[in-house]
Amino acid sequence: MKERGILAVVSGFSGAGKGTLMKALMGKYDNYALSISATTRKPREGEEHGREYFFVEKEEFEKMIEEDRLIEYARYVDHYYGTPKEYVMSQMEAGKDVILEIEIQGALKVKEKFPETLLLFVTPPSAEELKKRLVGRGTETMEVIDARMKRACEEAEEMNRYDYLLINDQVDRCVEEMHHLIQSQHRRMGLHGEFVADMKEELRKISE
Ligand code: 5GP
Repeated sequence: MKERGILAVVSGFSGAGKGTLMKALMGKYDNYALSISATTRKPREGEEHGREYFFVEKEEFEKMIEEDRLIEYARYVDHYYGTPKEYVMSQMEAGKDVILEIEIQGALKVKEKFPETLLLFVTPPSAEELKKRLVGRGTETMEVIDARMKRACEEAEEMNRYDYLLINDQVDRCVEEMHHLIQSQHRRMGLHGEFVADMKEELRKISE
């Protein structure tokens, strides 16, 4: 039987390069499934419905909440974002390691619901570099950039609640670190209760 997949959450300041890291990780390894969130924010240029996000109206999002179709949801800078349940559960059952690229409030809710979840926090090497990346991306107005920098200050207060810190100064190296951290989770003692029980039983029999 195929081992059940790991659930990993990747968070980080807006502009930390999470999107680039995810793309590189997915391109390099085929054991991962990236969850696609629902959001009420409008698509950015080049984004497609069903690829980056499921772009929905507020009413539809609220209906998903009511029908309990989201593992978690949060408000982030004036919009709703949430993780559809069905895809995550079925992919984990099929043995895929599922990655949620979500913000901090959502990450903590997922950890509460599923304590085995691995929480990874990605940051650029410095605050200055973060601002440079946000401005350089050229997809947001100065007002939105300022709101996101402010949000980064709040998020920094909580980043020590994550299991691991990844400094994204070089994409390839960061992807490798992420891959190894997630893969090492498969060996957690808590996930191998059946093996441990069998081993104990056999040892008892052999030593009798
Ligand atoms: P963006 O608008 O830049 O695509 O995303 C804004 C923030 O929302 C990012 O920190 C991103 O990780 C987070 N986010 C995306 N999808 C979800 C989700 O399903 N749930 C939560 N809680 N946050 C999300």
